[in-house]
Formats: sequence, structure tokens, C-alpha cells
Amino acid sequence: NTFAEIDLGEALNQNIKRCKYVKPTPVQRHAIPISLAGRDLMACAQTGSGKTAAFCFPIISGIMNGQFAQRPHGARTVYPLALILSPTRELSCQIHEEARKFSYQTGVRVVVAYGGAPINQQLRDLERGVDILVATPGRLVDLLERARVSLQMIRYLALDEADRMLDMGFEPQIRKIVEQMDMPPRGVRQTMLFSATFPKEIQRLASDFLSNYIFLAV
Ligand code: AMP
Repeated sequence: NTFAEIDLGEALNQNIKRCKYVKPTPVQRHAIPISLAGRDLMACAQTGSGKTAAFCFPIISGIMNGQFAQRPHGARTVYPLALILSPTRELSCQIHEEARKFSYQTGVRVVVAYGGAPINQQLRDLERGVDILVATPGRLVDLLERARVSLQMIRYLALDEADRMLDMGFEPQIRKIVEQMDMPPRGVRQTMLFSATFPKEIQRLASDFLSNYIFLAV
């Protein structure tokens, strides 16, 4: 019942201490080992449950330990290894802030991109390099259309507050985004879907995007 018992590695454990997290919340206790074991996951999680860490820790750990093919460094296109989709600017910024704390001194680079704000600063942030991209669906589609981001190397996908993203009408954008990840050469992608509710639409997303997944309700 401690983070040390979950094998996250020294650097992450230091950052968890810095954040003053003493013990994992229920969703963290169950979701992190499932993700570390490489399984897809659909998890029921409310705001305040600690879900951000639940999907960030396995992603950061996986990137630190993973052997990844050399990523192209094209003129302007960047190739993140992980994508975290969230419905709003506020939530994306919150996730970005937390993910940066969790990845302190790990070498893992986190960038955020959201709509309703000028794109230029976000383009400059991306150009400096990105491993984990936190984004809202609309702005990400824009970046894909400008060929400033490629999802060809994505190894981890997390969908946060999936029910809210659907309520906001983002389903077409989300499907377009995931389609790009599924284009050849498609590597192994690990997917985590977090939602507070599980209507039919969310179950359909899960069966379309996840493979052989574990359902977690805490
Ligand atoms: P979230 O549900 O991810 O938005 O997290 C809600 C709040 O709980 C955030 O302020 C987190 O920093 C905090 N938090 C997450 N996990 C833990 C933990 N294991 N121990 C203490 N606080 C936590």
C-alpha cells in the first residue's frame, strides 16, 4: 500500500515524495500495476480520485524504460511517444502541470496544446521537443493538419474525462486522432480510457480503441 511497492523506479519515487503523496489512492493502486503490466484499461474515476497520476506514472515510467525506435526529426514535425487527450484548456493545463512535476529530472518532456489561445507559443514549445503531449482534441486536429505533430510514434494514449469529451461533441475529432495512430506502420499502442460515467457511447469508444482491456471501477 505504498508507492515503493509499485515498481515505478527511483526517479519517479523521488518525484512522488516531492509531491508529498504518501500512499496511492484506490484508482492509482489498481490502475498503475495494470498499466505497468502493459494492459489496456478502462477506468471509472471522478475528479479528485488521483486519476492524473494514475495515467501519468505508467506513461513516464514506460518512456524512461522503453526502447524506442529512433524518432525522425523532421524540419517541423514532432513525434511524441504519448498523448493525453482532455476536454478543456483548464484540465489540460492542470494535467500538464502535474505531469511536469512527475517527470522532473527524468528527461521526459511534456508539452501542452489547447484551443482558444494563439498557436504560436505552442508551436515553439513543440519545436523544443516533446515526449508526452497533453492536448484538447480540436487543437490537436489543427496541429495534425498543419503537419506539426505526427502520431506515428505514439506508444501510450490516455483519454481523460472521456464522457465529457463526448458531451462536448469531440467524438469526430477523437476518432480522427485515433485513426492516425492506427495507420501503418502501427506499433504497439497501450490505451487508457478514464471516464466518470459509462453510457453506451463510452462503451463503444472502449471497444473501438482498446484491445483486451481491463475494466476498473473503484
Ligand atoms: P486528480 O483526481 O488527478 O485531479 O487529483 C486530485 C488531487 O489529489 C490533486 O491535487 C493531486 O495532486 C492529489 N493527489 C493525487 N494522488 C495523490 C496521492 N496519492 N496522495 C495525495 N494526494 C494525491
